[in-house]
Amino acid sequence: MFLEKLGQIKKARENWLANYLNPEIIAFCNKQGIFLPPLTNPKDSDNNWGNIKWHIRNRLRQSDDLIEMFPQYLNKADLLADYLKNYDLSILPLNLTQKEGVKKFLPELGFTPIIDPYGVQRECSVITREFSGKKYYLSTYKKNYGTLLPIVSNGSTRIICPIGCRACYRGHQTRFKNPLLLIHGDGSSEAVSIPAPDIQFNWLVEEWNTNFVLAGVYDILISGGEPLMLPNQTWEKILKELGTAKHLKCFRICTGALFLGLPFRFDEEFIGLLTNFRGKTGVQIKIAAHVSHPENITPEVVYFAKKISTQGIEILPQIPLEPEINFWSNDLERTAATLTRLDRLLSLTAGRPYKWIIDLQRGISLLSAIEIWRRLHDRHQTEADVTRPTSLAILLPIPEGNLNLSYHSLWAIKMEVDKRNNLVHYRIPHPAGVWVDYNEPLQKGVNDTPQRLKSLMI
Ligand code: SF4
Repeated sequence: MFLEKLGQIKKARENWLANYLNPEIIAFCNKQGIFLPPLTNPKDSDNNWGNIKWHIRNRLRQSDDLIEMFPQYLNKADLLADYLKNYDLSILPLNLTQKEGVKKFLPELGFTPIIDPYGVQRECSVITREFSGKKYYLSTYKKNYGTLLPIVSNGSTRIICPIGCRACYRGHQTRFKNPLLLIHGDGSSEAVSIPAPDIQFNWLVEEWNTNFVLAGVYDILISGGEPLMLPNQTWEKILKELGTAKHLKCFRICTGALFLGLPFRFDEEFIGLLTNFRGKTGVQIKIAAHVSHPENITPEVVYFAKKISTQGIEILPQIPLEPEINFWSNDLERTAATLTRLDRLLSLTAGRPYKWIIDLQRGISLLSAIEIWRRLHDRHQTEADVTRPTSLAILLPIPEGNLNLSYHSLWAIKMEVDKRNNLVHYRIPHPAGVWVDYNEPLQKGVNDTPQRLKSLMI
């Protein structure tokens, strides 16, 4: 059944591409080896592929369909059914057309996400407001950061993302349907509501304009779930509120839409809202865009990335290093080849890659990550400098903020292997002037002896 549907999906895609791609984009895709399906029926006016609602409606959501499309689940049908009781399965049509890229969205049975790996729900880093006896989340603010990090929802308690990454950094909410938690200093937690976006930004800007602690904050990074699931009318209201933020100079949206299945979300009206806002306020706009695999760079992405960049909106591609998607600790050659291709394609399509992020779910070792970073980027040899992301970052749930690593970090890191608990502990000096602790699972042949660290230091 779903295979039949996939046939219709592919046809809708070919039709849209034939109608929308100009010779320059076709030449670009051919030159860069970006897969172009046969461009048929250019006169057919069926425009479903460009309609985001159609993509949402045509996601793969059911276990039967998953088994039909991915027979590796066939002999795990019971486990799958059990896992899907709690897991919100969602694979978008564009992602289904990718042989390797789709793996990012295939559920890993038994996997449970780390709750709040980046510390955005810690009470000490959250701005709240009490209203009518109820506590509302307004934004995350890490002490001394220049950035506010608000999480938005549609006003319900759910944080939604139809993109469906199996190891979503907010998987506890987006995939496992839990409410946003406020985590107290003693480890206890309480569910907290997020107001409707217009109210959230009204309250947040009021706080920002009047609280002297926030006077140095000049940047805002709005995330979700998927913040671009909010309709244009809601974005118009958010921008109206942000237009009154005295300190705001830079405005970023953190989204998976561009590279991970919904590039069509960047319609003319939405891009117009952003450029009008910039025109009136002078605030600069950037799109922090999640991307993992070279196949995520499709002709559709090339088309919309061009539309966005020609309006002077900078795209900042963020690449989480993920096991079995773009990173194989036991096959660093494959890892290097995949990430090289991804960095090169991004530098040609979206300006340049922004940052690599060490897997927030701790699926890869930071030793392997540093080794690949050294080969591809710290060496300055086989790769042109334009493909170099700004940083190899670990996002940490600590008040001192994130850490950027490099080849030279190997000399500073202290490593301890804890075989009893199957863990590896690192102590890493932080530029804030403190040592931070970082733990990861022990992996045989990857991080199971301190000699592994030493062997990389040459
Ligand atoms: S795009 Fe971002 S929010 Fe959405 S599922 Fe993926 S990681 Fe989560």
